[in-house]
Amino acid sequence: MSFDVAAIAVIGGGIAGSAACLSLARSGSDVLWIAPEDTPAGRPGEHLAPAAGPLLDDLGARHLLDRSCHRPAQTMLSAWGQSRLATRDAVVHLEGAGTVLDRSVFDADLAALAAGARRIAAPLERAQWRDGLWQLQAGGQSFSARFLIDASGRAATVASLHSSRFRADQLAALYTFLDQDPQSDVAPTPASLVETVAEGWWYAALLADGRLVLNHFSDPNLLPRHATRDASVLTSMLGSTRHVGRWIAEAGFLIDAPPALASAATTWIAPAAGKAWLAVGDAAAAFDPLSSHGMTTALWTGARGATAALASLDGDDGPLADYAARVADGVQAFLDARQRIYALEGRFAEAPFWLRRSAAAAQDSTQP
Ligand SMILES: Cc1cc2nc3c(=O)[nH]c(=O)nc-3n(C[C@H](O)[C@H](O)[C@H](O)COP(=O)(O)OP(=O)(O)OC[C@H]3O[C@@H](n4cnc5c(N)ncnc54)[C@H](O)[C@@H]3O)c2cc1C
Repeated sequence: MSFDVAAIAVIGGGIAGSAACLSLARSGSDVLWIAPEDTPAGRPGEHLAPAAGPLLDDLGARHLLDRSCHRPAQTMLSAWGQSRLATRDAVVHLEGAGTVLDRSVFDADLAALAAGARRIAAPLERAQWRDGLWQLQAGGQSFSARFLIDASGRAATVASLHSSRFRADQLAALYTFLDQDPQSDVAPTPASLVETVAEGWWYAALLADGRLVLNHFSDPNLLPRHATRDASVLTSMLGSTRHVGRWIAEAGFLIDAPPALASAATTWIAPAAGKAWLAVGDAAAAFDPLSSHGMTTALWTGARGATAALASLDGDDGPLADYAARVADGVQAFLDARQRIYALEGRFAEAPFWLRRSAAAAQDSTQP
């Protein structure tokens, strides 16, 4: 079975793919959305930076933050470069508070808003540029499109075959969600906390529903064996923290299952656009979550990429080149900021994790 030729195919149903589809819907374009419905419960990545507000306004999606499963991120606590905990209260910052999301709900809500696009709920199996069209296969069917937007996340399914991939590090995340012991009578502080240790850094944040999200960021070869198989390994790792472990113990959060492992490496492709294609979100540039800008980048690139794709279909490739240049500038700005922030932690300068970040040399890599 085959559809007519779509103007644009969007690959991937995360935030970047949804943002692209929402933008394209406004222009009335004929969009083919190839995106498996795989929003799993317990997605990591819940801190939405304040900069996302105007981007959501543009997409007509700001109201999604009103749900009671999300909460304002007022209080950020940080022990980075010092053992004492510093408080950074959002009310004293001009940009205002970010939002602590129930990430799975937010991703699903944004995808539902974009549901006007013709969606094939299956992964893309094949994409080939032939005779001036993208020939696509998904869910056992064949499709054609004049332009392709790759929003397939870190996989960069199509873009990585048409551009060069770069990698600055191997950062990995152990992540889990902890329930509070029902016997506990402590009301946990609605805060987010960052703390460094010799092997990397920890992040913990209280979600609106009372669960605690707990992340440990390190390099794969520095993680203890069996960390993803045995919950007691995470408990003993927390022994080297001063604040995170105490927060968990005092509030009675339970560690009764081992954490999951995800890549959190800084990777990007360059250029992020080419003939009849462009990449958005993590497919274009995936950042160390220290920045808390993964979701804002997905929203911005999704919307900007859609505009550039439409211009290209109208015969103007200027916005496409401009888009690729803006992504490259964003990557460079992030790499500079990343180096500055890691340099603020001087206590573990000889430890491999921190040594690698002080070198901060991005390596060209074609490996995904
Ligand atoms: C541990 C961790 C913590 C993080 N914390 C934060 C945070 O606090 N704040 C923040 O802003 N960001 C954070 N991030 C980053 C943020 O989650 C990502 O930047 C964001 O999800 C990128 O969205 P995306 O739509 O580009 O990619 P994704 O969310 O990865 O979506 C890609 C989609 O493409 C689909 N796909 C893949 N292959 C194919 C295919 N062949 N065909 C069709 N579809 C395909 C996938 O199924 C998926 O649905 C964190 C990341 C990690 C790993």
